[in-house]
Amino acid sequence: MNQDLFDREIQCPVCKNIFHTKRVKSSACRIEKRDTDFCVVYSSTNPMFYGAHVCPMCGYAAMESVFKDITPQGKKVIETAITKRWVQRSFGEERSVYDAIEAHKLALICGQVLNHKKGALGNICLKLAWFHRFINNEREREFLHHAQTCFEEAFLHESLPIGNLDEVSLTYLIGELNRRLGKYEESIDWFNKAVENPLIKRNKKLEAQAREQWRLAKEEFKKLKNDVRVV
Ligand SMILES: [Zn+2]
Repeated sequence: MNQDLFDREIQCPVCKNIFHTKRVKSSACRIEKRDTDFCVVYSSTNPMFYGAHVCPMCGYAAMESVFKDITPQGKKVIETAITKRWVQRSFGEERSVYDAIEAHKLALICGQVLNHKKGALGNICLKLAWFHRFINNEREREFLHHAQTCFEEAFLHESLPIGNLDEVSLTYLIGELNRRLGKYEESIDWFNKAVENPLIKRNKKLEAQAREQWRLAKEEFKKLKNDVRVV
């Protein structure tokens, strides 16, 4: 039994079933490093693995912060689109990265059928990208791409902040996702937008990071153009 975990009792808002899910004690979380797309790497048990709740009975899944927020119509949608095809399965024990991927994919599917905002879907896709990064799986790129398109749409059409992402952090993040996907021109535009936003002055660390990643994107773009010329 992993001593870093404790049990939580949750009631499913769709089928009223009461189930258990694990959570990591905050005192047990040890941060090893932070990647430039805000991914936190833990040297301890990873609390992100437990971010999505999954009801073992009906298959309804969502991120913890919005799990209870479901309308009566939403419940009907879940019953029709998810529960009818659901094979009972519990995510209530210690989760491996593979279990975390499954749980977050279910939250993504439920979020899609419930028409959740692009910002919320982008956040789930970003976590899925990170989980694939932890196991060096090439699907990381696919989820980074989904996150990038969701966040760009959210930036244009949805109210901010999205979770912890305020306007300037989101601008920076879209720049960094584009850079990681090799879309350097778009990346440079977004980084420009981030460093020109007066709000970035309130976050010196982010400002320095945006300038550094902007420089890196320019350098990578230049290299790419030279490589093309050589071919
Ligand atoms: Zn349920």
